Amino acid sequence: MSGPKPQPGILDIAPYVGGESSIPGLDRIIKLASNEGALGPSPKASAAYREIAENLHRYPDGGSSALRQAIGKQEGLDPEQIVCGAGSDELLSLLCAAYAGPGDEVLYSQYGFLMYPISAKSVGATPVTAPETDLTSDVDALLAAVTDKTRILFIANPNNPTGTYIPASELSRLRGGLRDNILLVVDAAYAEFVENDDYSNGHELVDLGDNTVMTRTFSKIFALGGARLGWAYCPPAIADVLNRVRGPFNVTAPALAAGQAALEDNSWTDKVRQHNKVWLNWTRDELVKLGLWTPPGGVGNFLLVRFPDEAGRTAADASAYLMSKGVIVRGMAGYGLPDCLRVTIGTEEEMRMVIDNLREFLGQNS
Ligand SMILES: *Cc1c(COP(=O)(O)O)cnc(C)c1O
Repeated sequence: MSGPKPQPGILDIAPYVGGESSIPGLDRIIKLASNEGALGPSPKASAAYREIAENLHRYPDGGSSALRQAIGKQEGLDPEQIVCGAGSDELLSLLCAAYAGPGDEVLYSQYGFLMYPISAKSVGATPVTAPETDLTSDVDALLAAVTDKTRILFIANPNNPTGTYIPASELSRLRGGLRDNILLVVDAAYAEFVENDDYSNGHELVDLGDNTVMTRTFSKIFALGGARLGWAYCPPAIADVLNRVRGPFNVTAPALAAGQAALEDNSWTDKVRQHNKVWLNWTRDELVKLGLWTPPGGVGNFLLVRFPDEAGRTAADASAYLMSKGVIVRGMAGYGLPDCLRVTIGTEEEMRMVIDNLREFLGQNS
């Protein structure tokens, strides 16, 4: 065996497994496995995407300038401190590549987003987890897990797949307890869904120092997962680093156009937020009536649901039953939560189908 050998750590990566998207033999399927938007993207975003089709011979704006201006305006942030990426996943990976390497530790919480260990291992760094309390990030546990080797701490707030978040005060306490040379990455992929007063997406921590980054995505509330678009708000020196390591044309022209149109269609975003609020609450209430547990206070466009440890009623049984009815949800064994499923909030019809099917599955037909 004398072929090319990948760098240390690469073959330790368990490849990310996305949600299923088809069931053999069934035409009509309901896909609630990847936190994709229930209502689809803004029609204006789709129109902007289509319009680019005639001009695909042109390279995109390599600096994503117009989109960064639009984000800056919408969020009240300096566009010079924004870097766009092909999904926020790209930015998480670039941050790992730029700030961690072999021998370094990348810290995240127990049920944190699975892209963190993947990004860490891909640069030869060691992923380290800190335990959660009540399926919620635990600031004291995270701080206790810091070592001399810690270089990056990733925190998804709210977190996927638990749906829970820590308030702004806790996020600030986390930053305050970290060494200045540890990069804190606040992954706020679901920020637009959260209306709670004690929540912050973390941008103020970026402004307060030179060691915190906030990442955001167009894949969730803007429902543009297929376009691959995300952004990071960074201290100037970190934005400079990301601009050096990213590809010169890392974001496609159709993604830039669709993203800007989606961002500026506030009435669509409001409609999506409202839809999510109504059906998240409805679904949670119905799950509780069925006797199933879901983390209290979960925000985001999905719910983690725990099933009994009882033959015929387990999460795996429920998933198989839903599959047989054409409903795809996400198994959580990869996250160390084999007794749970994650259900994305879909349309009203889809949520009623999920609940009806679960009621049947549990034998609670009235
Ligand atoms: C969906 C998600 C992302 C990002 O997705 P992209 O599609 O790569 O922008 C990042 N973090 C969390 C926690 C997510 O759930």
